[in-house]
Amino acid sequence: MSVTPIKGAAAVPSTPTLGANLTTDRALSRHLLSSTTYDLLVIGGGILGTAVAWTAAQSGLKVAMLEAGDFAGATSSASSKLVHGGLRYLQTGAVKLVAENHKERRALGTDVAPHLVNPLTFYLPVYKGGPHGAPKLGAGVFLYSALSAFRDGVGHIASASHAAQQVPALRTDNLSAVAVYGDHQMNDSRVAVMTVRAAVQSGAVVLNHAEVTGLRFTRGRVTGAEVRDRLDGTEFGVDARLVLNATGPWVDHLRRMEDAGAAPSVRLSKGAHVVLRRKAPWRAALATPIDKYRITFAIPWEDHLLLGTTDEEYTGDPAEVRATDADIDQILDEAAHSVRDEHLDRSLITYAFAGLRVLPGGDQAAARSASGKGGGGRRAGGTATAKRETVVTEGRGGMLSVAGGKWTTYRHIGRTVVAKLAKVPGAGLAEDMAPIPRTVPLPGVGTPNAVAHRLLIDREPGSRMDPLVAKHLASHYGTLSFEIAHLVDEDPSLGRPIHPDGPDIWAQVAYAADREWAYTPDDVLRRRTTVTIRGLDTPEVRAEVEAFLKERQDV
Ligand SMILES: Cc1cc2nc3c(=O)[nH]c(=O)nc-3n(C[C@H](O)[C@H](O)[C@H](O)COP(=O)(O)OP(=O)(O)OC[C@H]3O[C@@H](n4cnc5c(N)ncnc54)[C@H](O)[C@@H]3O)c2cc1C
Repeated sequence: MSVTPIKGAAAVPSTPTLGANLTTDRALSRHLLSSTTYDLLVIGGGILGTAVAWTAAQSGLKVAMLEAGDFAGATSSASSKLVHGGLRYLQTGAVKLVAENHKERRALGTDVAPHLVNPLTFYLPVYKGGPHGAPKLGAGVFLYSALSAFRDGVGHIASASHAAQQVPALRTDNLSAVAVYGDHQMNDSRVAVMTVRAAVQSGAVVLNHAEVTGLRFTRGRVTGAEVRDRLDGTEFGVDARLVLNATGPWVDHLRRMEDAGAAPSVRLSKGAHVVLRRKAPWRAALATPIDKYRITFAIPWEDHLLLGTTDEEYTGDPAEVRATDADIDQILDEAAHSVRDEHLDRSLITYAFAGLRVLPGGDQAAARSASGKGGGGRRAGGTATAKRETVVTEGRGGMLSVAGGKWTTYRHIGRTVVAKLAKVPGAGLAEDMAPIPRTVPLPGVGTPNAVAHRLLIDREPGSRMDPLVAKHLASHYGTLSFEIAHLVDEDPSLGRPIHPDGPDIWAQVAYAADREWAYTPDDVLRRRTTVTIRGLDTPEVRAEVEAFLKERQDV
C-alpha cells in the first residue's frame, strides 16, 4: 500500500509539545540518553515505571526510562482491565484501602482519562448453596459504594430476572439474586502508551526495546546502566544520580545486578485470561464468587467477552509466561458457574494471555504461605489470599526497587515513590524538585461521544468515516483521533481497515509508528490497536504490518 510518512512535527499541526524527546527516531533517542547525566533513570516501562517517570518529570527532574520490550508489554497489558476499588479487600477489613482506590478510580474516570476509562456495572450472582449469601453480598456492595460516597450509585440487590434481561448469557438455574455495584474498565495497553506520552510531554526521554544488561557504579552507588538496543544490537550507557528498578516480575533479577547476594523480595503468581467473541449483549459484567476468596470475572470488553483469571504460583522465567490449555480449561470451567455453555464454546476464543502478579514476600514468605492453603492442586497455596501490596526496597547501592500493587493506583504509587526518591540521602533530588500538580489529564482528554461526532462531521468533502471507526478512535485516542483522521485526509488509503472484521484502520499503524514508539507487528497489533485481541492478526495482516513498519522506519 502507499505510504505517506509524517516524520517531523509539521505534518501533524495539532500536536502541542513535540520536542526532540517525543521522537521515535531511535538513534536520536540513544544519543539523548547517552549524552546527559539524568537526575533519575527508571528501568522498566510498565505502568509503575511510567508513573514514576511521569511524576518525576512533572516535578522538573531530568528523567530517562528504558524498557527491555515494549511499553506495558509484560504485566501491564495482561491485567483484568479493571480500574476498581477492590471489592474483595472488604473481606479483610481494608476499608481505608478501598476508599483510596475508589478515589484514584474516580480521578481516572472523570478528570485524568475520561476518554479511556469507562464506568461499568457489575453483578455478583448469588446462587443457592454458593459461598456467600445475599444479605452478606448486599451489605458488601452497599458499603463498597458508600466508600466512594455513592458517586457510582448505591450498591444493592437486584432480582435474577432483571439481571438476566441485562445479561442474557447469565445462568439462571438456582440464581436467587445479584448484588450490583459500579467500577470502571479500560484498555490497559492504550492507557499505558498515553501515560508514556504524558511522561514524554513532561520532559522524560524514553526508549523501548532497550534492555538494561548491567548497572554502572560510582563509589559503590548505582549511578547508571549498560543498555543493549534489542532491535539492532547497539550498546550504550546511561548515567544518572539515582536509579529506580521498576521491572515488575524481573525486580529481583535487577536487584541481583546491584548485589549478587540479594535475597528474593517477591514471589510471583500467574493470572491468565481468555477473550471470546460475544453472542449476546452484555450490559453488565459478572463477578462470580468461586469460593470464599476467589472471584471469576466475565467482562464485556472491546466488543468481546473477557474471562479470568487464574491464580497459580509461578517460578519459571517471567519472559515465558503463557496461558496454557490447562489455564484455558480452568477459566472456562469457572466461568460456567454463571455463564451459559453456548457462550463459552472454545470456537469463540479469539485470544488468551497471561501475566504475573508480584506479591510481597521472598523465599521465606513463599514457604510459609505454600503451607497455608490446602488443596495440593495446581493453584498456589496462599497467592489468592496474599495482599496485592506495592513492594518498595532499597538496595546496597542505593537503588530503589518498586513492584506489585494495582494498575488502578498507578498515579498514587508514582507520587509515593517519587517522594521516597526525593529523600534518598546524598542524591539531593528534593532541592531540584518543584511541587507536583495533583491532577494532570492524559493526552487526548475529551468526551468520546463529542469526539466521535466531530470525526463524522468534520470530513473533507467527499470523504466519510464509518461510525464504528469514529467511535473506536474516539474511545481509544480521545481528541488525538483528529490527528489520525488528518492522516486519512492526507492519504485516503490509510482509512482502510487493517482487517475487514475489525474497526482498526491503517492510519493507526502509521500513527503507532510515528507517534507511539511502535516498532514491531506485536507492538502495533497487540498493544496500539485491538487487532490481536479480536483474533484478527492473521499471518497476512502481520506480514503487511511488518512491511509497512519497515517502509515507514526506512524513510
Ligand atoms: C492477572 C493480573 C490481573 C490484574 N488485574 C488488574 C486489574 O484489573 N486492575 C488493577 O488495578 N490491577 C491489576 N493487576 C495489577 C497490575 O496489572 C500490575 O500491578 C501492574 O501492571 C504492574 O506494573 P509494573 O510496571 O510493575 O510491571 P510490568 O508491567 O511487568 O513492567 C515491568 C517492565 O520491566 C521491563 N524490564 C524487565 N527487565 C528489564 C531490563 N533488564 N531492562 C529494561 N526493562 C526491563 C519488562 O519488560 C516490563 O515491561 C493485575 C495483575 C495481573 C498479573
